[in-house]
Amino acid sequence: MEQVWQDIEHLLIHKDRVITEIAGNGSGPAIAFCAGLHGNEPSGVIALKNVFAYLHRHNIPVNGRLLAFIGNRNALHHKSRYAQEDLNRMWTAANIRKLHNSGFKEQELNPEAVEMIEIDQLLQGFINHLNGQERYFVDLHTTSSPSVPFAAIDKQPQSYDFALQLPIPFVANLDDFLKGTLMHYLDHIKFRALVFEAGMHDDPASVQKHEAIIWLVLGMSGAIEEGLIPNYKGCFTLLQGLSDHPHKVFKILHRHHVADNRKFAMLPGFVNFQVVEQGMPLAIDHGKEVIAPYSGHIFMPLYQEQGADGFFIISRVDSH
Ligand SMILES: [Zn+2]
Repeated sequence: MEQVWQDIEHLLIHKDRVITEIAGNGSGPAIAFCAGLHGNEPSGVIALKNVFAYLHRHNIPVNGRLLAFIGNRNALHHKSRYAQEDLNRMWTAANIRKLHNSGFKEQELNPEAVEMIEIDQLLQGFINHLNGQERYFVDLHTTSSPSVPFAAIDKQPQSYDFALQLPIPFVANLDDFLKGTLMHYLDHIKFRALVFEAGMHDDPASVQKHEAIIWLVLGMSGAIEEGLIPNYKGCFTLLQGLSDHPHKVFKILHRHHVADNRKFAMLPGFVNFQVVEQGMPLAIDHGKEVIAPYSGHIFMPLYQEQGADGFFIISRVDSH
């Protein structure tokens, strides 16, 4: 873990938000990659650095336009999830109106609002260069407990088709339960958009999984010729091999909201996608046992101090 943090240190010292921007050639896709939208998740930043360093070193031709950027630079610098507000819950209709029309009031300009304004300017600049080519957005995250790699999307059909191509399970209705994700904002301006969760924050293997998804997206979208990608097949099998449910679709049935992190604790030992039965005790909240309201799979159990999502219950949509 220490090495991971050392590797991003110079990016932060130089105050760069953009890891790389490649104008490319041809009519290929426009792809924006984000990492570190949560400041305690350095893995995606390292993976983007590694992949794009490889592209530069080997002079690999890019068909289309690529952008890779850091989300919450300030929080990443402090190795914390966020300073005052979760930057991945702020992209609401009200805030987007402020970004594009009315502006933020002085007292609203907390560290995350400042990050948000900069990211939006960067994205608007990226979008201004596009003329009708396919748009992709991949937001790289990690989880507080060990997990198989998976994706989450909103309900837009273009994003559904995109996620289905990847050898991982995905949740297809995140927007019903989480408001204001950056993915949601881009999904609604016609990007094929997904959140990719590689695994645990501190696990060096999360960097490998992030690199694998970046290469897969670059290859599948046609931005980079598959033959020029180092071990393209290996990237596919790495992700596919880690999951019992590759290419399978889940929907969220239930979200347990956490009002006060000090009063909430998951019971130990739950792992992502584990089967749970209705009535099974899952957590303690305000001194009371929280039981599973439905049978299904537990999803994103919260084993860290910050965050308002205690756990989700999900179930397979395509049960055949
Ligand atoms: Zn995250």
